[in-house]
Amino acid sequence: MSRILVTGANKGIGFEAARRLVAAGHTVYVGSRDVERGRRAAEEIGAVAVQLDITDDGSVNAAVAAIEADGGLDVLVNNAGIQAEMAADGTVLGAAELTAEMMRETFETNVFGTVRVLHAFLPLLEKSAAPVVVNVSSGLASLRRITTEGDTAYQYPGVAYPASKTAVNALTIQYAKAFPGIRINSVEPGYTSTDLNNNLGHQTVQEAAEIIVRMAQIGVDGPTGGYFDINGELPW
Ligand code: NDP
Repeated sequence: MSRILVTGANKGIGFEAARRLVAAGHTVYVGSRDVERGRRAAEEIGAVAVQLDITDDGSVNAAVAAIEADGGLDVLVNNAGIQAEMAADGTVLGAAELTAEMMRETFETNVFGTVRVLHAFLPLLEKSAAPVVVNVSSGLASLRRITTEGDTAYQYPGVAYPASKTAVNALTIQYAKAFPGIRINSVEPGYTSTDLNNNLGHQTVQEAAEIIVRMAQIGVDGPTGGYFDINGELPW
């Protein structure tokens, strides 16, 4: 059984993934930037709450210290993410309305936050017998799908969010090369009804969590440096 941290697990897809991983018998840490929401979520599923704002060095370092003192970490699920290019009525803003500030805000969480958390937990992961990282990406990250496949599901008008997830995929490739002892993969959960998209997604969180739960449990013989959805490997 593994010791697993899911970031942004107080709600949405991360919460469901954490619930399933607890049910599978693992020790699961629910990362939540809000202490009370994290405590309630963890209590509901029998997990351990950890205050964790992935944009904050102090918060991340305190989470590392707490999990290290509790016994270490085998699996890191980088799930926390935001979609910042949204109008007040919930519609996604297009390229013409994008500002550098929206781009910065998006990258601050989805990219720099993910790097911050990964780096901070590397020393613990390197002590594990079967270290695994799951980076929760998006189908919108795939440059190949967007440019050549003409999939109508990818008619998303925003720029910052897809670019941030393309960057997450680039991180997956580079970190998998740099740390061959750790299984590091990106996953696409699918378009899912959550607060991130004002509940417009057509999948349930149960369906979305499936690929995260699967890739969190691949163990030492699993793939690394890949990009997967529930049906298999995706084109970058
Ligand atoms: P939700 O908005 O429901 O959940 C996002 C989670 O991330 C929340 O727990 C939120 O915390 C947390 N979070 C945001 N910023 C931070 C931060 N700075 N530090 C710590 N936690 C933070 O969205 P989803 O469940 O839909 O998204 C989960 C992941 O799945 C994201 O990475 C998203 O990009 C990805 N994804 C989602 C898809 C979808 O259709 N929904 C499709 C493809 C990928 P808080 O409650 O405090 O805001």
